[in-house]
Amino acid sequence: MPAMLRKLAQRLGMLQHSFAGGVHPEMFKVTAGLPIEVAPIAPVHILPMKQHIGEACSPLVKVGDRVLRGQKIAKSEGYLSVPVHAPTSGRVVRIEEHAIPHPSGMGLPCIFVESDGLDEVDESLEPMADWREINPAILRERVRMCGLAGLGGAVFPTFIKLIQDKRFPIETLVLNGIECEPWLTNDHRMMLENPDDILSGMAIVMHMVGAKSGIIAIEDNKPDAATAMREALSRASDMENVRVVVLPTRYPQGSEKQLIYSLTGKEVAAGRLPMHIGVVCQNVGTSKAVHDAVMLGRTLTERLVTVSGDACDNPATMSVRLGMPVRTLFAQRGLDDLSGLHLLHGGPMMGERLKNVDVPVIKSTTGLLAMSNATMQQAHTEEQPCIRCGHCSEACPVHLVPNLLADACRSDQFDKAENYHLFDCIECGSCSYVCPSNIPLVHYFRYGKGQIAQTRREQIFAEASRKRSEARDARIEAEKAEKAARRSRVRQEHAPVKTGETVEPEAKDATQEKS
Ligand code: SF4
Ligand code: SF4
Repeated sequence: MPAMLRKLAQRLGMLQHSFAGGVHPEMFKVTAGLPIEVAPIAPVHILPMKQHIGEACSPLVKVGDRVLRGQKIAKSEGYLSVPVHAPTSGRVVRIEEHAIPHPSGMGLPCIFVESDGLDEVDESLEPMADWREINPAILRERVRMCGLAGLGGAVFPTFIKLIQDKRFPIETLVLNGIECEPWLTNDHRMMLENPDDILSGMAIVMHMVGAKSGIIAIEDNKPDAATAMREALSRASDMENVRVVVLPTRYPQGSEKQLIYSLTGKEVAAGRLPMHIGVVCQNVGTSKAVHDAVMLGRTLTERLVTVSGDACDNPATMSVRLGMPVRTLFAQRGLDDLSGLHLLHGGPMMGERLKNVDVPVIKSTTGLLAMSNATMQQAHTEEQPCIRCGHCSEACPVHLVPNLLADACRSDQFDKAENYHLFDCIECGSCSYVCPSNIPLVHYFRYGKGQIAQTRREQIFAEASRKRSEARDARIEAEKAEKAARRSRVRQEHAPVKTGETVEPEAKDATQEKS
């Protein structure tokens, strides 16, 4: 097709690319038609010092301090990090290690804020309603200081994606409203209930990255959301270059690289970022958070969480303050007794099994699902040997060969796994989903990645301690040499002049002068 015609067809939404592979899991979006409910504040909120990809924060408060909602209570350490804020007003009652939602069951230092029931807000951040006049770098700093991290589940610090780099001018901002995980309805409800705020955030992001055009991507199983966003667009000013594109429902359509390919036909090569092909991608919930940070001066203290699952009789999409214990949230939906249930943090495709319900809701908590034992047993029947059917390769959107990759990881042949591009795997779970032998392929990939990361950490540690030890040896040697030189100088200076020894003329003169 000639380039001009192709461009025109794309503009009219007639030509849609589609990524390779993918699956069609049953959707179970039982909360899609229910309005967002606001979860009450918990007696104590638990704020981990790391809730996103990157480095952990360090506390700025101590036990006994009073804090206000939105107040910064932990500062970011390192570049890839954003601060943590108090989700309500109250007192800091503990700062200690506590379990967080993580498959390893690991713990992290957390700040415990006991609510005083007043929910007083820290209003120190001024709104920036005149953002069009403000330098993008200043707006980006606002996004960083408000603690924003991608709310689609990837939790990458948002400000990093908003850096303008002259080498890679941004052509298009993609707003991701796909939400292809079964059960989850946060983005869907957000688009229905806050379309204007989402668009406002989008306009601010476009200004920050210098994007010329914008696309709001929505799957065709959410026609009402597409209508809501189109209506909001018709109300907005300065957004003529933004359009809504409806894509066919297919998992993992919402994965960044797959989505960009579906929309633009451009591939983000392995090891590269969307910005390298002139695209920035943001989740619709993150866009609303950008609006809140810039237009209202609001830090990130809450997020939407879908509380659902076939064992939950009273499911809902909920607005939840960060740090709310998962046990408390389930109890609010009538799930007081969680024994015998399978609990998931996130969706069923990419989420993790929750081993501890005393962990808090964090920035990456997209969903909390309670599944009955019967459903899980059906889904996880015993693993059978691989029959080399190739279904997993057909389903893989990244063109990997999952069965070979799993073999390599299972047998601890990590070099081989890396050669099979283990780190290109986006852990979408499509391969596990289609495997007739019920092989939990993604588990093997996570195991492989974890082992390689551990080895690399150990290598870095060993290298650092080797360098430290070499530096220490060199210092000791230098000190020894210095001492030896000093001793020899002192010896020379104090050496007695022997009788009969030839005295240099200069020395002789000096002796005569003294006498
Ligand atoms: S789908 Fe399962 S059984 Fe088939 S090749 Fe892949 S791993 Fe083997
Ligand atoms: S190998 Fe990775 S990217 Fe490919 S289908 Fe499996 S989980 Fe998804």
